[in-house]
Amino acid sequence: MVSQEMYELGTKKSSIRTIFEYGQKRAVEVGAENIFDFSLGNPNVPAPDFIQAAAIDILQHSDPMEVHGYTIAPGKPQVREILAADLKKRFGMEITGKNLFLTAGAAASVTITFKALAEAGDEFVTIAPFFPEYRVFVEACGGKLVVVPAKTDDFQIDFAALEAALTPRTKAIIINSPNNPSGAVYSEATIRQLAELLRAKERAFGHPIFIIADEPYREIVYDGLTVPCIPLLYENTIVCYSYSKSFSLPGERIGYIVVPDTVVDFARVYGAIAGAARVLTHVNAPSLWQLVIARCAGKTADLSTYAHNAAFLYEGLTAAGFSCMRPQGAFYLFPQALEEDDAAFCARARDYDLLLVPGADFGCPGYFRAAYCVRTAMIERALPRFQKLAESYGKVHE
Ligand code: PLP
Repeated sequence: MVSQEMYELGTKKSSIRTIFEYGQKRAVEVGAENIFDFSLGNPNVPAPDFIQAAAIDILQHSDPMEVHGYTIAPGKPQVREILAADLKKRFGMEITGKNLFLTAGAAASVTITFKALAEAGDEFVTIAPFFPEYRVFVEACGGKLVVVPAKTDDFQIDFAALEAALTPRTKAIIINSPNNPSGAVYSEATIRQLAELLRAKERAFGHPIFIIADEPYREIVYDGLTVPCIPLLYENTIVCYSYSKSFSLPGERIGYIVVPDTVVDFARVYGAIAGAARVLTHVNAPSLWQLVIARCAGKTADLSTYAHNAAFLYEGLTAAGFSCMRPQGAFYLFPQALEEDDAAFCARARDYDLLLVPGADFGCPGYFRAAYCVRTAMIERALPRFQKLAESYGKVHE
């Protein structure tokens, strides 16, 4: 009567959602202040005042047809020109409005891109740990997700493992840096090495291999690090961006895809992006929010809380005996679990009302994710719980 596959996708909750819902129920029993929910990547920094001011001004003073009407599928031309000029100014990308396609956030950006590129039997490579929805999105577009094991010493790329995963069926590699969940930022050396490897494989296989750069955390980086602009280092790069994190607007659904001129057969790729958006019934990115992001181009929310939380949680957990890479960006910590079975570890953490996500969900068993896009005061109150949890595994607090 209904598609079994869709039924299962709609009713089988992700473990992140299950943990979050457990937390909501437990909060009723013990009080919200006694639950330490590190499960969801929902930004806790409020959307900036200038966003609200822009939205209100546009709603009050612009032509309602302009604010609420359909736009052409790629988005309002003047908005795309403004965003392209900003990307050119900030990163040196040689693009104009014709290289942008506005979307309803990063989930739409990557899914439209997968759908645009996927031909029967195509493989899309991702590097563990990875955003779990990639599997759902790639498979929905008829592709096969190929996972390269994690390089757990620094969460950069294990090039020997990546090379072994590339086949004549490889259509693209998904790069998510700053990374959810590891917090790693791929260095320019890593991207250059990746570009060299992919060019060699393009020559060997006789067809292009795309990088799909999923970059919703592009502006959330610490210690003066910069995120390399991948299209400047590898010609066949398609960038998928979202304002969910940089403007704290995840509920508004706004982002874009950049297809630079350097992409092989630009017109066909951009045309396929438009076709994919059409069959996925994307119609157009929300008109009001197209106007708002154009007004606010080049700005971000105040993201300094994340740097502060990252350092605070990292110091607290390492002092309690956890091993962890110091996060370089995004808003997740990805420490080693204190037993091999990360699900059992997260279950024991629940006894201390600490809600954590097992690393296996991200293709990296033996680790766990703690999202620190939470109030700093909650981290402060949670640290003694982490200490107790570590002590239950025989760790001694420094
Ligand atoms: N890609 C990654 C790596 C993410 O972490 C997320 C959300 O957390 C998304 C895509 C989807 O973001 P959006 O809200 O823009 O659809």
